[in-house]
Amino acid sequence: MGFFQFTEEQEMLRKAVREFVEAEIAPHAAEWDEKHYCPVELFPKMGEMGITGIFVPEEYGGAGLGHVERAICLEEISRYSAGLGIALMTHHLGIAPILYFGTDEQKQKYLPDLAAGKKICGLSVTEPGGGSDFMGLKATGEFKDGQWVINGRKCFITNASVADVDIWAVVTGQDEKGRALMTVFIIDKDTPGHAPGREENKIGLNGSSTGDVICNDVVLGEEAVLGEVNKGAKIALSAIQEIGRAGMAAISVGILRGCLEEGVKFSNERILYGKPLNRLQAIQFIIAENRVAYEAAKLLTYHAASLKDAGKPCANEFSMAKLFATEAAIEAAKKTIDLMGGYGCINEYPVGRFLRDAIATIPAGGTSHIQKIIIAGNAIRGN
Ligand SMILES: Cc1cc2nc3c(=O)[nH]c(=O)nc-3n(C[C@H](O)[C@H](O)[C@H](O)COP(=O)(O)OP(=O)(O)OC[C@H]3O[C@@H](n4cnc5c(N)ncnc54)[C@H](O)[C@@H]3O)c2cc1C
Repeated sequence: MGFFQFTEEQEMLRKAVREFVEAEIAPHAAEWDEKHYCPVELFPKMGEMGITGIFVPEEYGGAGLGHVERAICLEEISRYSAGLGIALMTHHLGIAPILYFGTDEQKQKYLPDLAAGKKICGLSVTEPGGGSDFMGLKATGEFKDGQWVINGRKCFITNASVADVDIWAVVTGQDEKGRALMTVFIIDKDTPGHAPGREENKIGLNGSSTGDVICNDVVLGEEAVLGEVNKGAKIALSAIQEIGRAGMAAISVGILRGCLEEGVKFSNERILYGKPLNRLQAIQFIIAENRVAYEAAKLLTYHAASLKDAGKPCANEFSMAKLFATEAAIEAAKKTIDLMGGYGCINEYPVGRFLRDAIATIPAGGTSHIQKIIIAGNAIRGN
């Protein structure tokens, strides 16, 4: 693994995003969580800063930057609101298939408004039959009289009730061995038959909306097909692997920094036995463990992002970053709650929310079990 360093421009971006986050996000994060509110009004503001279209080329209205810069934005936002972090990360998750597999017409039609944060994007893959069983999708696309008819129900979809543009993966055929062939479609939210369904009441990440999306005889023209018919599995998988897991890792790096900073702040201010709490070695051990976890998660995440920006294979690296960072964030939040004694259990402090948010990061982008299967498979094959 190479040694990773941020450029001066990346440090400047971090500073600008941090100032924005401290002014516009930090003061409201607890309220969004409590009210289960996704602050969609911030998307145009994030658009002005280049955040919503961070890796979209300038010709389509984006900032023309890369995936390291994307991770910087997600880390900074998730330091205070991992809920808004996952809403933004999923917006990018929907943009990526259009950018990497769309026709020029599709890019011209969708990317400028999405990059500007005037519209919000989502990616609908998971179904009630099981998210881990990626090839077991039941939603269908049927080609009839020159048009596609889409039917199915997706669940656990981030931005379900706020997305203007929805990327759908459905089954459109079978190969000679009877395995499902998938096609990916771009669906505008107002298309008749397409609608959000039930909204989930989640344990955490409540600055985002998560729920069902339903397609009931949704009729689409051929211009809605993303990439090639029956070759959509690659499109959906690459988005999940290199944008979804990347995003969940960066969000967890933000949570880890939150735990570290809140633990240090509390232990500096809390007086016990007439001295700051941080004089106790047991407390220092927690701070040290949280610091190491944060630095390790950061290295794994930004290293994988730098591979993506260099056009190198990075799916396995993102799986490792996602597995490590999400699990470490749960541990760090629990330890920080312990460090704070009774105060750790009081919702005036954000650490309880960090723990709930961290737990909710595990399934999003594929569970820890699935990451381990991928990482072990690669190791066994010598990758
Ligand atoms: C906050 C949040 C946001 C999400 N956002 C989106 C989104 O925007 N779009 C989207 O499409 N999906 C989204 N998801 C869904 C997510 O991708 C799925 O929850 C995830 O893939 C797991 O699927 P499942 O929940 O059906 O669990 P299941 O697949 O039913 O898994 C149940 C259990 O079995 C284990 N398991 C499954 N297969 C194996 C195996 N082969 N070996 C060992 N263990 C296994 C799992 O690890 C888990 O412990 C989101 C989920 C959450 C929680």
